[in-house]
Amino acid sequence: LVSRKKKAEDTVVQIGDVKVGVAGHPLMIAGPCSVESLEQVREVAKALKEQGIGVLRGGAFKPRTSPYDFQGLGVEGLEILRQVGDEFGLKVISEIVNPSDIEMATKYVDVIQIGARNMQNFELLKAAGRVNTPVLLKRGLSATIEEFIYAAEYILSNGNTNVMLCERGIRTYEKATRNTLDISAVPILKQETHLPVFVDVTHSTGRRDLLLPTARAAVAIGADGVMVEVHPDPETALSDAKQQLSIPQFNEFMSELRATKLSQ
Ligand code: PEP
Ligand code: MN
Repeated sequence: LVSRKKKAEDTVVQIGDVKVGVAGHPLMIAGPCSVESLEQVREVAKALKEQGIGVLRGGAFKPRTSPYDFQGLGVEGLEILRQVGDEFGLKVISEIVNPSDIEMATKYVDVIQIGARNMQNFELLKAAGRVNTPVLLKRGLSATIEEFIYAAEYILSNGNTNVMLCERGIRTYEKATRNTLDISAVPILKQETHLPVFVDVTHSTGRRDLLLPTARAAVAIGADGVMVEVHPDPETALSDAKQQLSIPQFNEFMSELRATKLSQ
């Protein structure tokens, strides 16, 4: 169902009135790694609004490597995200990790994110397939492109055709970056499937200094969108403190990225 051979034209996913997958119109999704407080999310939402960005991200259920690290605010985090989204007129996206939470999540979020660690959680994929809410599916840490495509197929084959893919770096021997951004996955996924393709520059690089060059690469190679993490005070962030942008850095990032596009 995801194959180009089955459907030649690009799928355009509607997040409310926001269209994803229209060639030449890449979408930005930005927001904090984790929802930490109402004030924190409001500050970021204000910055997004000023940049004309329509989709706010924020993790409420955080899949952390260590059980001793901040696990997220759970449903309270989804409530904060919804409240701020409504206040600022933004669409919101958050990761869901438990199949039994999918139905509940549709009441709060405009897009359900399925994270890298759950790309092959087949019960979660099936549950996400049984609702109509758009899904952003991230590539697994060590997943091949074929496995990634099959994971998307699980969602579509259960009925939900509103699926977007997200390349977020894969695990290699290279230690200079947190993961290795597989930029060629973008055109391959666009050739093999008709689904919109995003690049998450934050988790693929794990480095603030690489966010702009990788975002430029993503846009240049034909990605339908870019995801980046923004926090009012990255140093004190409860997760991903090293790679989130502060609001002034985010404004600079956006103006540099826009300048690149204009000069092309
Ligand atoms: C995230 O986007 O919050 C996240 C945890 O990313 P990933 O699943 O790609 O590691
Ligand atoms: Mn993060």
